[in-house]
Amino acid sequence: MSAKTETREFQAEVKKMLDIVINSLYTERDVFLRELVSNAADALEKLRHQSLVEEEIFDDHLSLEIRIDCNDKEHTLTITDTGIGMTRDELVDNLGTIAHSGSKTFLTKLSEADQEDVSLIGQFGVGFYAAFMVADEVKVQSRSYLMDDEGHQWSSDASGSYKISPCKGIHRGTRIIIKLKEDAHAYADSGKIKEIIKRYSSFVSFPIKVDGEKVNTVQALWTRGKSEITDEEYNEFYKFIGNAVDEPLYRLHFSTDAPLAIKSLLYTPKENFENLGFGRMDPGVSLYCQKVLIEQHSKNILPDWLRFLKGVVDSEDLPLNISRQALQDNALVAKIHKVLTSRYLKHLEEEAGKDPEQYQEFWRTFGIFLKEGITSDFTHREALGRLLRFESSASEPGRMISLAEYVERMGEGQESIFYINGSSREAIEAGPYVEAFRKRKLEVIYTLEPIDDFALSHLGEFAGKQLVSADRGDLELPESGAGEEAAQKEEQAEGLSDERRQGLTAWMQEVLGDRVKEVHVSKRLEDSPALIVNAGGYMTSSMERVMRAARQDSGFAQFAGKNLEINPRHELIKNLDKLREEDREFAASVVEQIHDNAMIQAGLNVEPRAMVERSYRILERLVKKDGGG
Ligand code: ADP
Ligand code: MG
Repeated sequence: MSAKTETREFQAEVKKMLDIVINSLYTERDVFLRELVSNAADALEKLRHQSLVEEEIFDDHLSLEIRIDCNDKEHTLTITDTGIGMTRDELVDNLGTIAHSGSKTFLTKLSEADQEDVSLIGQFGVGFYAAFMVADEVKVQSRSYLMDDEGHQWSSDASGSYKISPCKGIHRGTRIIIKLKEDAHAYADSGKIKEIIKRYSSFVSFPIKVDGEKVNTVQALWTRGKSEITDEEYNEFYKFIGNAVDEPLYRLHFSTDAPLAIKSLLYTPKENFENLGFGRMDPGVSLYCQKVLIEQHSKNILPDWLRFLKGVVDSEDLPLNISRQALQDNALVAKIHKVLTSRYLKHLEEEAGKDPEQYQEFWRTFGIFLKEGITSDFTHREALGRLLRFESSASEPGRMISLAEYVERMGEGQESIFYINGSSREAIEAGPYVEAFRKRKLEVIYTLEPIDDFALSHLGEFAGKQLVSADRGDLELPESGAGEEAAQKEEQAEGLSDERRQGLTAWMQEVLGDRVKEVHVSKRLEDSPALIVNAGGYMTSSMERVMRAARQDSGFAQFAGKNLEINPRHELIKNLDKLREEDREFAASVVEQIHDNAMIQAGLNVEPRAMVERSYRILERLVKKDGGG
C-alpha cells in the first residue's frame, strides 16, 4: 500500500445501502448500467456548461463522449467519460456519503421492498451504488476539469470501507472499472451491453461507444417536429429522463415564439411517489438552452406544486453562460415559469374535456398538488379553479364534478356555491348540515380531504359566485318553492313560542359559557336537534380540525367562535324547555351533551373524559326512571 493511500469508512447509511444492494436477488440488474451512463452524461452536461462559464478547462481538447469497454477475459467492464470529473474531496463526498434527502426514505423502503423497487434507485440520488449489484470491486479514477487538480483513484469492494489514493497522469473525466461478480460475467459481453444501452440510454445527448462502436443516435427529441416522433420514442424518452419504468399519463409537446422562444416537452407520470411514502419529490423538469443543459431538475422554471412533472424546457432566449445563481432572479426565467405553468394548466383542461374519465384518474393521483397550488399561488388561481373536481350531492358516489358544472346547474336565485366537509359521503349525508340544502334542492359540494376547505377558501369565488361553506353561521339560503313551504310549515308547527325560544336560548348560552359565542334558533335544521356553525370569518370546522392537529398542545382550543343552532320543532328541544323548569341541573347536563354531540358532528374533538362521565350520568338516570317506573 502506497503511503498516500488512505482507507476510509463509509457513512452508516451507505453501508446499509450497499448491504441491501449486494444481497438482494433481483432480476432488473441491467439498471446499474443506466445509472452509470446517466452519471457520465450528467458529468458531460456539466462540463459543457462549465466550459461556457470558465476561462480555462483542463484537457479542453477532449471530445465529449462516453466509452464502454468490455473485457470478457478479465471479466471487467470499464465506463469512461470526458466529463467534469471529481477532485479528491468530491470523490469522498459523492461516493462515500449520501447527501440526498430522499435517499434515506428510499433506504427504509428498500429494506422492506419487493425486488422491483430497486430499479428506482436512480430516482433517489444513489444510482452509483447500483454498480455493486454486479461488481466484486469498483475502481473510480477521476480527474477534475479544474486546472490545479490532480487525479485520484477511489476503490471499494463494498465491505464497509473504501480506499483513496493519488492517480497521476490521467485525462479529464471519470473512468469506472468494474470487476464483475462471478454470476455477472455476462456483462462483459459487448452484445449484451449494446442492447442495454439501446433500451435505457438511447437519448443520452453524447456519443456512447461500446468497444469503439457508436451505439446511440444523439438527438434532442424536443427540438424535432411532432409529426416525426412516434409514440414509442416519446415514451422511451419519458422513461429516460424520468428514470421511470412505466408510461406517462399525459404528454405535452409544444413550442412558442412570442413572447418567448420555448420548446418544451412535459410529461405527467401515472404514479405519485409522494403518496407511496417516498417523501417530498424533487422537481423533474430540466432547463436547456439550445440543447445545452443549463439546470437539471430545475427549481426555477415551474412552481413547486408542479414538481411531479417530468420533462425538458429549452429556450434559446436565455444566455448560454447564465450561472445557476443568476437563474433565480432572472426576468426571462420568471417569464418561462409563467408561460409554462399556464400552458400546462390549459393542457390539463383540454385533456379533462377530451376524456373526463382519464382526467378523474389524474385528479385522484395529482389533485392534491393542484390544491397546493391554489393555496400557495395567486397567479394561476382561476385556471386551477377550473381543474378542481369534487363529489357533490348531485353526483353519483365515486363520480366527480367540476365547479363549472355546478354553476351551470344552479337555479335562479342561488348566488353562491356551497360546500361542506366530512370524512365520507355517507358521513356528510347523515349529518345535520345538508338538511336545509336537501329540502331546498340545492346542490352541495362534498369536500373529503383536509386541504379542500383551505383550497376553496383561498379560491374565494368561481365564475363570479362566492364559495361558501355550509357550516358558516351567517349562511343565507335562498327561498325556493320548497323553502316557502318549509317556512309555512314552521309557522304552523307547534314549536315553541317566540318567548319560550328566547328564554331557552339565553339559558342555554349561560350554561355553555365561553364554549359558544351564541345560541340561536336555527332556520336550516329539519330533522336534527342542533348543530354547530362558525360564527365569523372564513374558517370552517374542517380547517379548524387541521389547525388543532398542527398545534397538539391545544387539542381542544377554539380557533374560530362557534354558534350553536337549535331546532325548536324537535322533540328533544321542546322537552328540554320543560325539563329546565322541573330539573335545572339535569337539563344543564343535557345541554352540554347536545353541544358535545354537535361538535362531534362538526368533526371536532371534545374533551372525552367529561363527555363520557356526563353521558353515563344521563343514562343512569334514564335506566333508573324506566326501571323504577
Ligand atoms: P445522483 O447522480 O443522483 O447525484 P449518484 O449516486 O448516481 O447520485 O451519484 C452521486 C454523485 O457522484 C453525483 O451527483 C456526482 O456528483 C458524482 N458522480 C458520479 N458519477 C460521476 C461521474 N462519472 N463524473 C463525475 N461525477 C460523478
Ligand atoms: Mg446518478
